[in-house]
Amino acid sequence: MTMVTKTRFAPSPTGIMHIGNLRSALYEYLIARSEGGKFLLRIEDTDRERYVEGAVEAIYRTLDICGLHHDEGPDIGGPNGPYVQSERLHLYGEYADKLVESGHAYPCFCSVERLADMREDEETEFIGYDRHCRDLDPAVAARRVASGEPHVIRQKMPLEGETSFTDEVYGTITVMNKELEDQILVKSDRYPTYNFANVVDDHLMEITHVVRGSEYLSSTPKYCILYDAFGWDIPTFVHLPLIVGEDGKKLSKRHGSTSFDELLADGYLPEAIINMIAFLGWAPGEETREIFSLEELEAIFSAKGINKAPAVFAYDKLNWMNEQYIRRLPFDRWRAMVKDITDSMFGERQYNVDMLARVLQERVTKLGDIPEMIRFLTERLPYSAELFFNKRAKLDADVASVILKELRPALEALPVWDEETLSATLGRVCDEARRKKGQVMGALRVALAAQQVTPGGATETAMILGRQEALLRLAAAIDFLNGRRP
Ligand code: GLU
Repeated sequence: MTMVTKTRFAPSPTGIMHIGNLRSALYEYLIARSEGGKFLLRIEDTDRERYVEGAVEAIYRTLDICGLHHDEGPDIGGPNGPYVQSERLHLYGEYADKLVESGHAYPCFCSVERLADMREDEETEFIGYDRHCRDLDPAVAARRVASGEPHVIRQKMPLEGETSFTDEVYGTITVMNKELEDQILVKSDRYPTYNFANVVDDHLMEITHVVRGSEYLSSTPKYCILYDAFGWDIPTFVHLPLIVGEDGKKLSKRHGSTSFDELLADGYLPEAIINMIAFLGWAPGEETREIFSLEELEAIFSAKGINKAPAVFAYDKLNWMNEQYIRRLPFDRWRAMVKDITDSMFGERQYNVDMLARVLQERVTKLGDIPEMIRFLTERLPYSAELFFNKRAKLDADVASVILKELRPALEALPVWDEETLSATLGRVCDEARRKKGQVMGALRVALAAQQVTPGGATETAMILGRQEALLRLAAAIDFLNGRRP
């Protein structure tokens, strides 16, 4: 019987969806989808100290915004639930007891103080638990457990031999069993450790491909020993490479935004973030194209294309990708995004949102750049004579003063304030005064914007501002230029 591919995203609700977490979710989703399998969501909330209120909602929200829809999970149920670890505590206890019975685990009664002393004892060669309770008589240990004595359950690691497994990305890894610690499986409060719960859950939930960060690689032999102890099949392991900044150091705040919410707040589109993250360790073989929609990724993704070299998160590349996505957005969607940002900036004042969105769609790198880019539209910036100086256009403050005075009556007389009429009129003024278009447009642009470089030219700026504001600014520029004279 061929098994249906099944992957899981197993986040801990600790508050923040880091780029690394989202990459795990994406690769898990893509491996499932590319093989016609299932993708499941499991909430790993057994570490109560790290639990953050609202974090579970953030996980749902992120998956939803990114389009990573799951087939089973706490919110939609499924055949292998419950999908929240804190609702599965009885299962971990049951399975731990089985291991104790079969001799693969044992209760340990060592006090916290004893463990601390042991760690301080520099004579101890073995790093980790010294296996003090490992050889207690099982019947005696069982009686102590039955009497309610506080204890944890530890895994009884084989003391000889070695354990090997083959990871899809990192290849075959072998460790000497004697180097493995008798790790805790169930804590004294009966909560499981991650090290135990992930094995029990991945088996019971029929996960075929365990996909996760490479920080779990070194623990995987211990998990393999657990699978063997239960007589369960070992899933395929796919460990993902470390994510680093351009300096080769582990990606951190020093490099820039590192969580999904921060990237959204910076103004990156979810589609661009997903596209960028898809390439953090994976490449589509021969293909050199880099822009892929989620749907396209679903079709071509393969764990075979994952590379173990550290994956570089380059913000320049993300910027480039975001630009590609913005340029291709359907205009109505883009316009709505722009309006969301600019309405509050313009306040009561009228402005032409269609023209503004059109101008910005060709130029914006990320939404967060918009407020600064258009500050000259929402605020009247101060003029200076230097602003009107442009050698190539043969323009300076004196020439500009003459030009603006020529333009003013023509613009005031416009019957309608639309692009066509504005362009035609500006063209006519240039012809009549025998002036180069660049000179006239340059003067008008500075008059309207009080800056030399603007997204869009003079006509577009005049359109965005609207008749009233444009004419007021023109008048203000003329006043300024007049005022310079004695
Ligand atoms: N809860 C673990 C984490 O968030 C999951 C690791 C795994 O995928 O097994 O890191």
